[in-house]
Amino acid sequence: MSWIKDIVNPKLRLWEEFYRNRWQHDKVIRSTHGVNCTGGCSWNIYVKNGIVTWELQAIDYPKLESSLPLYEPRGCQRGIVYSWYIYSPLRIKYPYLRGVLMDLWEGARAKHADPVEARASIVEDEEKRHSYQVARGKSGFRRATWDQ
Ligand code: SF4
Repeated sequence: MSWIKDIVNPKLRLWEEFYRNRWQHDKVIRSTHGVNCTGGCSWNIYVKNGIVTWELQAIDYPKLESSLPLYEPRGCQRGIVYSWYIYSPLRIKYPYLRGVLMDLWEGARAKHADPVEARASIVEDEEKRHSYQVARGKSGFRRATWDQ
């Protein structure tokens, strides 16, 4: 294993570079998380070259009343990792439909020009409705178009 070279020299302090890179930013903006949350907590968003690098609770809400403790730090665990969602390869970017429902929908649309009537033909048919309802929670999504 001579091709592996261990560099163990604490005086070089090379590990500090990792932290400098991780927390660097060129501006701080104020924002919140508006998707699937009505919290509206105030956050400082640290940005480098247009990329969100990290977030920190703003903690500057005014005191509501002198007899109450400060409502800080306001912001939850989901919020503090929100920037991970933005760049996650798992982020959903397209519409998806449950496969069984997509098949039902396409069949209904072939028979009904009006989408409301097509939808009614599915939900008012006990067997069809049951078939997509029992498919819930089992994944099976298919990428759809916005028109679908
Ligand atoms: S910190 Fe949490 S509660 Fe507040 S806006 Fe973000 S996701 Fe919602």
